[in-house]
Amino acid sequence: MGSSRRSFMKLSAEAAALLAVAPLACSRAHRMAAPVRGEGTDWEPGYLALERSGELAARAERLWEKLAACELCPRRCGANRLKGETGVCGSTAQLKVHSAAPHFGEEPPLVGRRGSGTIFFSNCNLLCCYCQNWEINHRGDGSFLAIERLAEMMLELQQWGCHNINFVTPSHVVPHIIKGVRAAIPRGLRLPLVYNTGGYDNPEVIALLDGIVDIYLPDFKYQDGEVAARYSAGARDYPEVAAAVIREMHRQVGVLEVDERGVARRGLLIRHLVLPHNLAGTDRFVRWVAAELGPQTAVNIMSQYRPEYRAVNIPELSRRLTSEEWRQALAWAREAGLTNLV
Ligand code: SF4
Repeated sequence: MGSSRRSFMKLSAEAAALLAVAPLACSRAHRMAAPVRGEGTDWEPGYLALERSGELAARAERLWEKLAACELCPRRCGANRLKGETGVCGSTAQLKVHSAAPHFGEEPPLVGRRGSGTIFFSNCNLLCCYCQNWEINHRGDGSFLAIERLAEMMLELQQWGCHNINFVTPSHVVPHIIKGVRAAIPRGLRLPLVYNTGGYDNPEVIALLDGIVDIYLPDFKYQDGEVAARYSAGARDYPEVAAAVIREMHRQVGVLEVDERGVARRGLLIRHLVLPHNLAGTDRFVRWVAAELGPQTAVNIMSQYRPEYRAVNIPELSRRLTSEEWRQALAWAREAGLTNLV
């Protein structure tokens, strides 16, 4: 939801040619690539043990049941998505995906040498007025797919050589993701899973992902509820919700861990997009991270805000950051003592 969205158009030409609905055109060179140092066989993602014990199947069922009166995110619309109803996110129970491709615009620990295996889901539960990918998230561009095809995408990204499977905008399709992971496991899926979210998740749903997700990549967008409500479709409770959700993510996976190649295997990486006029509350954000999670928490403070979508008509959001605003944001991070700025 963070830089993956904003840098979506920066895919390599090769990767950009890949379509969500078509199998990834994995070259022979990629298929035959030898394991690189650090890709030992000892490590395995947590979801494999959960599958062996039957727990993953049980979690998948519990999550799927939530679609009958949807409470997958804090909006708790109550829509019966199984019967075709929709809530704020505009999604029924039918899975819709925009694209899947190796992505080289994410943070270095996710990208490594071979890219992050991004899967962009259509629609969104947060709906920010300055969304950089509004065609996907607001307009819902994409194709309806079977769960089996989602599983194939994960396997193709793995075959391509990607270091992880990066689910972009996953909050409204968590049940589909877990079913897709289960379908991919018998066929050899063993990459770490990245949960790349805007931070507006139901803490109960995140608790059900304990042991399944290896790397959490949440945004923490706002510190002020009125600001959140104004720019993200009435999500006034965003600051409290995101704080609770990120605390739970941190409890589950801890500090970001990388292997000897510098590639992330597990942990938390928080994204924070600095907004003009300090509307994102960057000073409060960095102090919260240092106090609540510790100064060693991996944080990406992002400067790339640009007015998109409806923001072009909102005066306070209709410009980029000034260099002074950016310098100030970094100074706040330093003053807070953050030591792991990605
Ligand atoms: S996932 Fe969609 S339908 Fe479900 S509660 Fe959130 S916004 Fe509403």
